[in-house]
Amino acid sequence: TTTITKYDPVKYKTPTGSQLQCKGWIQEAALRMLLNNLNPEVAERPDDLIVYGGRGKAARDFDALDKIIAGLKILENDESLLVQSGKPVGILKTHKDAPRVLISNSQLVPNWANWQHFEELEKKGLMMYGQMTAGSWIYIGSQGIVQGTYETFAAIADKHFGGTLKGTLSVTAGLGGMGGAQPLSITMNEGVCLAAEVERWRIEKRIETRYCDVLIEDIDAAIDRALEAKQNGEALSIGVLCNAVHLLERMLERNIIPDILTDQTSAHDPLIGYWPHEISYEQAKVLRDENPKQYLEYAYTSMYRHVELMLELQKRGAITFDYGNNIRARAKEKGLTNAFDFPGFVPAYIRPLFCEGKGPFRWAALSGDPEDIAVTDKVIAELFPENASLQRWLKLAKEKIAFQGLPARICWLGQGEREKAGLAFNELVRTGKVKAPIVIGRDHLDTGSVASPNRETEAMMDGSDAVADWPILNALVNTAGGASWVSLHHGGGVGMGYSIHAGMVIVADGTDDAAARLSRVLRNDPGMGVIRHADAGYELAKETAKANGLDVIDRLK
Ligand code: NAD
Repeated sequence: TTTITKYDPVKYKTPTGSQLQCKGWIQEAALRMLLNNLNPEVAERPDDLIVYGGRGKAARDFDALDKIIAGLKILENDESLLVQSGKPVGILKTHKDAPRVLISNSQLVPNWANWQHFEELEKKGLMMYGQMTAGSWIYIGSQGIVQGTYETFAAIADKHFGGTLKGTLSVTAGLGGMGGAQPLSITMNEGVCLAAEVERWRIEKRIETRYCDVLIEDIDAAIDRALEAKQNGEALSIGVLCNAVHLLERMLERNIIPDILTDQTSAHDPLIGYWPHEISYEQAKVLRDENPKQYLEYAYTSMYRHVELMLELQKRGAITFDYGNNIRARAKEKGLTNAFDFPGFVPAYIRPLFCEGKGPFRWAALSGDPEDIAVTDKVIAELFPENASLQRWLKLAKEKIAFQGLPARICWLGQGEREKAGLAFNELVRTGKVKAPIVIGRDHLDTGSVASPNRETEAMMDGSDAVADWPILNALVNTAGGASWVSLHHGGGVGMGYSIHAGMVIVADGTDDAAARLSRVLRNDPGMGVIRHADAGYELAKETAKANGLDVIDRLK
């Protein structure tokens, strides 16, 4: 037998419709979402099984992928498939309400939890990097992050610019799977986005999927066009084909200070995710394979310079923040002592949402029919009429978001709301108002599912940033509650050694059993976040806990 080394679009096509290939809808959902993750419309580099976020993969290799698919097809409704860093390793007897799939990705004993050791294991075929939703089979393309990014920029607009980004210039870099959501999020807030990206195909992919408006090759021409749009109050996004360092250097030379400055290159993964600025793209690609050590030296020098430039622009007035890629830590590792002088986006803009159990609730239509998402959109709009920002988002999403792969939607929902939405979706399936079950999941970047001291848990008010008991409890409670698949990962977002986080997905198949599971899981999962933030001392979380009956331990006092 020959080993397959390339994505086969026919063999791995995502099944749609109401016909089952597996022995139950939960297994079927796992199969479809796994294949959807790898759909070339969805994944960044399907030939390498890479979904997004540097080297975030859905399966360890093609052999493991084939075995996972085969395993899901034979899996009974009282069994669970175990997946160890992208490879299936067992099928064990559980029960009907247990998760059908249990996943652990990239876990290393803390003293070995660094990229160097990970790479040794990866080379031996013993490990895979799961990122967040890549290895837990609930990536839905750039839409998965676009609302979060939109809300972040909306929060900046509210805080600093009277509620709109009209007439402002935001500068960033990285138009990959997640970073590609930035241009659209900025234009949705009526602003101008100028984003540096080294790889032409990435910019082209964002233009094709309507996330970015134009590609400009020349740095000065791109800056000029951005300034003109800012002047005219035009909402415009520009992908400029260059290294972030070169763009920022040129802006400083011309003394053009952006209103807002951030970055979403994959700095969390210096070897695979960050292009150095002192050598060409072609040279870098060769060097990365031939001399990774030297590549890393170049990458670190660039990340140092990159953060230094961001600090200088901040000093001159740009509202500057780290967008969750750990670039500040990289610069600091290289010796830039004041790298953390600009804040991360979570303490700056997201934590109050987390205190109310709000996070990136998402769902996909297993039928493959966009009409099913239109039906769910309507239900969400009717369920939460008082939520103005949600109503605004749903309207914008319908107009501006092109589906990638299975039709899907994302909405930040809070404690109580997620459970309501899940049960309503289950009713839609039961009554045949949608054509097949709905899969519900979320990012690991959420209120109760992650410990990541340079990102989601940066600057917690009680100093518990690095305490990783919380995501472990989250995975355990979602397993106990009967989520459809549960995953526990290490290193997502910020890289090896910097985070532990958990994912969960649950299927609404219209049955009473599903309703019971949905109600437990969609209450407990955000509930973990409310409890975690209340425990850390946040008043808003304490109030939310009280209002939702999550304050039992408090009442024991
Ligand atoms: P990706 O690997 O798909 O894309 C990264 C992009 O950056 C690539 O297109 C690459 O060519 C480009 N790039 C790298 N170095 C560059 C440089 N010096 N100049 C210009 N472009 C450069 O990754 P992604 O999924 O888009 O995620 C990006 C980063 O954001 C990751 O570190 C990820 O962990 C983080 N992230 C943040 C959030 C959030 O909400 N803040 C969410 C998910 C991911």
